[in-house]
Amino acid sequence: MTLQEKDKAFVWHPFTHQAAAVPPVNIVKGEGLYFTDDAGKRYMDAISSWWVNLHGHCHPYISEKVAEQLQVLEHSMFSDYTHQPAVTLAERLLNHLPPNQSKVFYSDNGSTAVEVALKMAIQYADNLGQKKCTFIAFENAYHGDTFGGMSVGARNVFNQAFNQFLFDVKHIPLPTAENLESVSKILKSLIATGTVAAFIYEPLVQGAAGMAMYEVEHLDALLSICKAEHVICIADEVMTGFGRTGRFFASDYTTIKPDIMCLSKGLTGGYMPLGVTSCAQFIYDAYLSNDKTKTFFHGHSYTANPTACSAALASLDLMEQAATWQAIKRIGDRHLNAKRMLKQHPLFENVRVTGTILALDLKTDEVKHYLNAASEGVAQWFQREGILLRPLGNALYLIPPYCITDGELDYIYKCLLNYKTGSLPVT
Ligand SMILES: *Cc1c(COP(=O)(O)O)cnc(C)c1O
Repeated sequence: MTLQEKDKAFVWHPFTHQAAAVPPVNIVKGEGLYFTDDAGKRYMDAISSWWVNLHGHCHPYISEKVAEQLQVLEHSMFSDYTHQPAVTLAERLLNHLPPNQSKVFYSDNGSTAVEVALKMAIQYADNLGQKKCTFIAFENAYHGDTFGGMSVGARNVFNQAFNQFLFDVKHIPLPTAENLESVSKILKSLIATGTVAAFIYEPLVQGAAGMAMYEVEHLDALLSICKAEHVICIADEVMTGFGRTGRFFASDYTTIKPDIMCLSKGLTGGYMPLGVTSCAQFIYDAYLSNDKTKTFFHGHSYTANPTACSAALASLDLMEQAATWQAIKRIGDRHLNAKRMLKQHPLFENVRVTGTILALDLKTDEVKHYLNAASEGVAQWFQREGILLRPLGNALYLIPPYCITDGELDYIYKCLLNYKTGSLPVT
């Protein structure tokens, strides 16, 4: 059997319509921006492998640091025991997080980072003797695939089978100049019920919604309403963290800081699964009690895995270098330049840029959603051109690793400009 045949026989892939799936590309090597498949063809990873990779694949420095850690301590449990990588990582992350963040809770991925945040907010109220049973989130939000994450996320084709099992969440529209007043009113009236545990949001860019972007002033306006009413604000920075939006965190742009933050994806530079939920001191304090029932009874077998922490520490070393920030600025500026050209393309609309993220929509008459037919064949079109670019519905986007060169960016822009539906490029 070939690897593809064995794959089909034994493996179930994520987010994949298995019945109609084309055989997956067999990746045998990663190096910098590139993957190489088993036929020797190279692909530019223009979307950082689902937004996780920051500095390129098999980065020599991170690989070396992880290898060093593996000689010393691969894993240990994290109750009653601690270790240098987890403590140092917490300390160093807190140096970069907004100053109100004071504790770091580890888990394994973005969904668990969100799950922890939701549970933290609910039990915070419970520990204070309050009953809060509602969350507020944005329409089209994505916060992961666990039940809590699905509950606060958009109700759509992804989770329709589970709808009756999801808890009560009020979804409000993403704010714009036009609707800010009405959205503020809705928010105030929801908070007035006195039952809201927290407001969760993806700051500035909603990733899975198709890189939907919105203004920092509008977000700040909503956050200030929550703050005035002591509603906990949870920034889900699983996608936006670690320079993607041009600053370390998207929350660095907002005047009002979140009380809880969720990190994953870029946290380890794309090397290993790791999640972080950080919180402000007042949340932690609500769990400090002689009453044992006020304990936060949550944890995962691999909590604070030292190997994953060592990858995160090495990635942070790179994030703290001036060259990385020059690259982030350079990519953002190049995107803004390309935006002007891409706007002319007859098949594209809503070309938009936030930091290192460039996105555009394929024009379509259909209702915009993930299963939109407009995107069919797009991934294969770019695959033939040697670019890994997997659309979200009718949205095409770039979120490249920071090692990408100007020449490589220009090649991808050129391919986007050459894009024609239905016509596969000659290879
Ligand atoms: C990807 C993502 C998640 C889920 O992270 P996983 O590691 O895939 O579980 C949660 N929130 C946001 C904003 C994301 O982009």
